[in-house]
Amino acid sequence: MDLQAVVDDIVRDLQPRLGEGKVADYIPELARVDPTQFGLAITTVDGTTYTAGDADTSFSIQSISKVFMLTLALGKAGESVWKRVGREPSGSSFNSIVQLEHEHGIPRNPFINAGAIVITDMVLAGHKPREAIGEFLRFMRFIADDDSVTIDEKVARSEQETGFRNFALANFMRGFGNLQHPVEHTLGVYFHQCALAMSCVQLSHAGLYLANRGTNPLTGFSVVSPKRARRINALMLTCGHYDGSGDFAYHVGLPGKSGVGGGILAIAPGKASIAVWSPGLNKVGNSALGSVALEMLATRTGWSVFGT
Ligand code: GLU
Repeated sequence: MDLQAVVDDIVRDLQPRLGEGKVADYIPELARVDPTQFGLAITTVDGTTYTAGDADTSFSIQSISKVFMLTLALGKAGESVWKRVGREPSGSSFNSIVQLEHEHGIPRNPFINAGAIVITDMVLAGHKPREAIGEFLRFMRFIADDDSVTIDEKVARSEQETGFRNFALANFMRGFGNLQHPVEHTLGVYFHQCALAMSCVQLSHAGLYLANRGTNPLTGFSVVSPKRARRINALMLTCGHYDGSGDFAYHVGLPGKSGVGGGILAIAPGKASIAVWSPGLNKVGNSALGSVALEMLATRTGWSVFGT
């Protein structure tokens, strides 16, 4: 299969639709992004990268960071992570507070905001916020095999200034005893992880361990065990697209995690790590054209976790 032709065709086919969807505007810094950009990068488990469009342009990875923080938290706390966060799809929006009340401050899964904030609180244990941010950044550079990955401080500040709902979620959970640090500390780390800026190429490299039984083929380093990689993929498939997760599984059939910056990381286990970025979002907050591109890719390559 000629993967370069596949990615080139997808970008060509989507050209007339560039700018579709609505850029996230509840974080002022994200509202300024040019909505007509589109990038796609596939890195296969043999380490070859295929790119098209704006694949080298950095964007705010936002909630995609939740996959990597979960990886760190599992490394630190192991299965005890699941005492404080569930593993079920939420069926509610990414920043919903409703279920927290019914479920006594235990968020549904690690990929909605409430769950991710608890995961960040776990990574913060034993650290100052600055150290936890440093640990996360070092980890991202290590798995992307790229020291130029940085945090966009402007985006972090913009989130800090407007993250009223995240403060509400965090305070609510602290009220239930499910946050162990002052909310400003936990959220300070959370806003910085969301503000990580990466390109599609860098992101496709960072996700490779999930496609390759826990080991990054670019460096040969093991990041997680094969079993843990499988389980993170399972969570991405069931919970990675907010309340559009069922639809994404139906149309694309691959584990994936989206972010309101318009990025999506998708994993074809045993085959490739795929990153796509287009800032315009659909109604449930997933990249509109990114989702379309991944459906095209899955159809044209036959990649799916549900059969060929
Ligand atoms: N930083 C964003 C927030 O907490 C992340 C949202 C997302 O990408 O889902 O609002």
